[in-house]
Amino acid sequence: MRNLYPVRSPRQRRGIRSRKGRITSNEVYLPIEARIEEIIRETPEIKTFLLSPREPLEFKAGQFVQLTVPGVGEAPFTPSSSPHEKETLEVTVMKVGRVTEALHKLKKGQKVGLRGPYGTGYPLDEFKGKEILIVGGGVGLAPLRSLFLTLLHDIDRYKEILLCYGARTPKDLIYKKGLRKWGEEERVELRITVDKGDRKWRGRVGLVTTLLNNLTLDLKKSIAIVCGPPIMMKFTTLKLIDLGYSPKNTYLSMERNMSCGLGQCGHCMIGRYYVCKDGPVFKYSQIKEVPNPFV
Ligand SMILES: Cc1cc2nc3c(=O)[nH]c(=O)nc-3n(C[C@H](O)[C@H](O)[C@H](O)COP(=O)(O)OP(=O)(O)OC[C@H]3O[C@@H](n4cnc5c(N)ncnc54)[C@H](O)[C@@H]3O)c2cc1C
Repeated sequence: MRNLYPVRSPRQRRGIRSRKGRITSNEVYLPIEARIEEIIRETPEIKTFLLSPREPLEFKAGQFVQLTVPGVGEAPFTPSSSPHEKETLEVTVMKVGRVTEALHKLKKGQKVGLRGPYGTGYPLDEFKGKEILIVGGGVGLAPLRSLFLTLLHDIDRYKEILLCYGARTPKDLIYKKGLRKWGEEERVELRITVDKGDRKWRGRVGLVTTLLNNLTLDLKKSIAIVCGPPIMMKFTTLKLIDLGYSPKNTYLSMERNMSCGLGQCGHCMIGRYYVCKDGPVFKYSQIKEVPNPFV
């Protein structure tokens, strides 16, 4: 049987490029093998997969990887675990179509393909000494979890973190155990809301933007980071700007259909930017002039 995951040198994995920056070998598109060590069912539609790649894969919070289900296809996902965990990584996947449905059918012990990491990640140096507002909607909390755990690892570098998270209903909240612990961390405030409560729910009810009322942060200086479905990103960003956040201090994790992941094919362009290469993390100031950036 053909070896699905041949071993390659680090240089081959990064891609051999011509002087003009074009990828000149196909090796770079070959995934490495990763074993599914554990599967956590977060909600009926969302699962977190703990993966152990055969070769170490270092990433920065906000970067993404391409996961392959052999015989089905590949799709981009942002690791949701801390980059400080070197042996394993977690990805949190919402079931929406072909690849994600196939992923949800896999069992512990089965293998997937993994290539990357790609993209830029969050510029942590720019966050030093500042108050940080993180706003997540639905499965958009996945990349933000990786960021949050990264910030928590060196919490003394930052002034304060306010994490705001919204889901449709209490059943749609992900990382329930983690959330409880995060709220108890020093210098961290956690605000959670659901669009619609149920009989047991005693927390806030309302859209995630309602969590941005009564902010006590220094709006002109603090950093805001947003990730979620397009409609949530749009209204959250507009509200942040309305409140006084600068577009330069407002970071968005953008999603676009992508194919190569390496800035070669052009599938994922927003204006002049490749989401896969220049993003997926962008400052709002970079993309605000693009027509319909949130579509
Ligand atoms: C940089 C980046 C990071 C990402 N990180 C994550 C992550 O951490 N977790 C995660 O769950 N997803 C993430 N996504 C989205 C994920 O890549 C897509 O959900 C996936 O490609 C869908 O593939 P599919 O074959 O299952 O669906 P397809 O068969 O391609 O699509 C089926 C249908 O679902 C719709 N659809 C596709 N994507 C979405 C979506 N995101 N939400 C709702 N409807 C959709 C399509 O329009 C289509 O109608 C990320 C995307 C990008 C670009």
